[in-house]
Amino acid sequence: AASSAPVLEIAGLTRAFGGLVAVNAVDLVVHSGEIVGLLGPNGSGKTTALNLVSGVLRPDSGSIRFAGQAIQGMPAYRIARLGLARTFQLVRVLNGMSCAENVKAGLAFHRPHLARGEIDDTAHRLLQRVGLSGRDGFSASELTYIDCKRLELARALALKPRLLLLDEWLAGLNPSELLIGIELIRSLKDEGLSILLVEHVMDAIRSLCDRCVVMNSGRRIAEGRPDEVLADPAVVEAYLGV
Ligand code: ADP
Repeated sequence: AASSAPVLEIAGLTRAFGGLVAVNAVDLVVHSGEIVGLLGPNGSGKTTALNLVSGVLRPDSGSIRFAGQAIQGMPAYRIARLGLARTFQLVRVLNGMSCAENVKAGLAFHRPHLARGEIDDTAHRLLQRVGLSGRDGFSASELTYIDCKRLELARALALKPRLLLLDEWLAGLNPSELLIGIELIRSLKDEGLSILLVEHVMDAIRSLCDRCVVMNSGRRIAEGRPDEVLADPAVVEAYLGV
């Protein structure tokens, strides 16, 4: 069960692009050990919200507290080193490198104090963890799509995160890969990781999320258990665009 201490606490988060308020006074909390889904139709502000939390973008106003510390306006690498990791909508791996080198690059950047041998062992262990056993020397460019996703996850886990942001990590997987992906995410939660995920795959939302926050036109329009919010007329209306 989730404890009461929030790992992430967002209040009044706002960011505009010119006259368009992409994220408008959004409040959102992720408690320790929870999986929270951030839902909403295309263009509702979900990715912008993730970019604000991870420091890719600076908020115009509002506060973001991570593990008790104010992080709004901090550069992305500092936020990452505090233990906040993310994946991207378009998978980002280093194609010219092996799987192990991909993970080691992440380890060397975010945990520079690790000794050489520790880096090798940890990279090997992280590849096993995401289901890439035996692929250490494999070129990242030769991986299948789901294995690319696994590798990106291993790179994110290299941070030893307390909170993981997943931006449509399950998008594009076929039905059997989807089951594997869902189990992988669930196993991370079982290890105590807190997760905020942007997702459109309804089966994944229903089976993974403890709670969902729904956005539309930059604003938070609903919050609750997946079955509650997906039955909420305001949410259905937002998705149908009526
Ligand atoms: P979602 O992830 O829910 O699809 P986004 O956060 O990507 O939504 O986009 C929210 C709104 O902000 C959209 O109208 C989008 O066009 C706009 N937007 C996002 N990023 C930028 C940007 N860098 N410059 C201008 N407008 C942007």
